[in-house]
Amino acid sequence: MAHGRGALRGLRVTLGVMLKRPITVEYPFKKLKFSPIYRGGFCFYPARCVGCKLCQNACPNRVITVRTERGEDKKLRLVGYEMDLQYCLYCGFCVEACNKNALVMTDQINLTCYDRSVLRVELAEGFLPAPSPGATGGGKAVAVKGPAGREESAQRKVAE
Ligand code: SF4
Ligand code: SF4
Repeated sequence: MAHGRGALRGLRVTLGVMLKRPITVEYPFKKLKFSPIYRGGFCFYPARCVGCKLCQNACPNRVITVRTERGEDKKLRLVGYEMDLQYCLYCGFCVEACNKNALVMTDQINLTCYDRSVLRVELAEGFLPAPSPGATGGGKAVAVKGPAGREESAQRKVAE
């Protein structure tokens, strides 16, 4: 009798779970909508960057190296912006420090790779792409403009 009651309880639990809406999604076929303040992959706008190095100084892990030079007009000019993402905590301190909105975070979550050397990147206009699966070989990956979806998601976070 006790055995039958246990089986009934088990059946009730199984049916209850079957009828509930799943809380997971079939990534990568379905994607979740992230909060507008989600801290995913970076997007860099060099035209907005004044080379102040506030982002570099705010970073607790020395991920960012901003290279600048003085022009003939004595103004700072950005000549390079490098990130070593293998040490990045995605804490967002650098983005908070930038009052020019030159560096923003997006909802890009596909940030994995097999070779850490590809995580040392020189940022250029537009998105910092996720390392491609199976990417190998060192050197600097130059950022390219990402797909429209990613661009739109980043634009949401940039106060124009
Ligand atoms: S998110 Fe944090 S750890 Fe990563 S670069 Fe910015 S400040 Fe540094
Ligand atoms: S990204 Fe922002 S904080 Fe960093 S150097 Fe450029 S303007 Fe300054």
